[in-house]
Amino acid sequence: MTPGTTGSKGTIRVLQLYPRDMNIYGDWGNALVLQQRLKWHGYTPELLEYNVGDAFPDQVDIIVGGGGQDSGQLVIQDDLQSRAETLRNMTEDGTPMLLICGMYQLFGRFFKTRTGEVIPGIGALDVETYGTDERLIGNVKVTTAEFGEVLGYENHSGQTSLGPGVAPLGTVAKGTGNNSSDGQEGARYRNIVASYLHGSLLPKNPAIADYLIRTAVERKYGSFTPGTPDDHYAVLAREHAARRPR
Ligand code: GLN
Repeated sequence: MTPGTTGSKGTIRVLQLYPRDMNIYGDWGNALVLQQRLKWHGYTPELLEYNVGDAFPDQVDIIVGGGGQDSGQLVIQDDLQSRAETLRNMTEDGTPMLLICGMYQLFGRFFKTRTGEVIPGIGALDVETYGTDERLIGNVKVTTAEFGEVLGYENHSGQTSLGPGVAPLGTVAKGTGNNSSDGQEGARYRNIVASYLHGSLLPKNPAIADYLIRTAVERKYGSFTPGTPDDHYAVLAREHAARRPR
């Protein structure tokens, strides 16, 4: 037990990247789900934020990054490059991360927007993204080997292709996903789960939340003993999301 956290099995620090500029369609909800599920599992969550110009916190156990307009991605690009090495090292070290849409794109090699700007990524993921005139919008179902059926909502004009260095998160059963040609959604690399799905994603996909938590706890404390989360609302949210039309 960590001193000062009576009754807690330990403290897990969750860092949200750029919530001021990269946080649309409720992506901040992902951090809130991690906070609540950490408590249910018996751990003490600490939620941290990193915005442009901030000092980068140390001892971060989980990173979450949300989506953003192209304009938000342009705002953070220089600051993100100044943190590129730190974030690449954390990726290679196995820090669990959930990267949604705009931050997924910027963890890749680059995002060339619809208007021709090339926003460099940090190259932690072997993916590249091209903006198009087609907006991919709607509810999505993804079949995954690791997390079962993943449910969410997409809204992006960028289309992402995966290089050989990453695996897809899954195969699209409804919706579009990474791009309009290959039927794949998201990316997996080390302990990164990257996805186009908002909604937010984790309230409807607790298996992914628990994967991030288990990985963080095992890295920090050696082993993970789950608690007893209350999945009542997650089950209802999944049923509801699965019934939505495209
Ligand atoms: N601006 C990016 C795009 O349109 C990302 C959008 C998002 O994060 N929802 O592709």
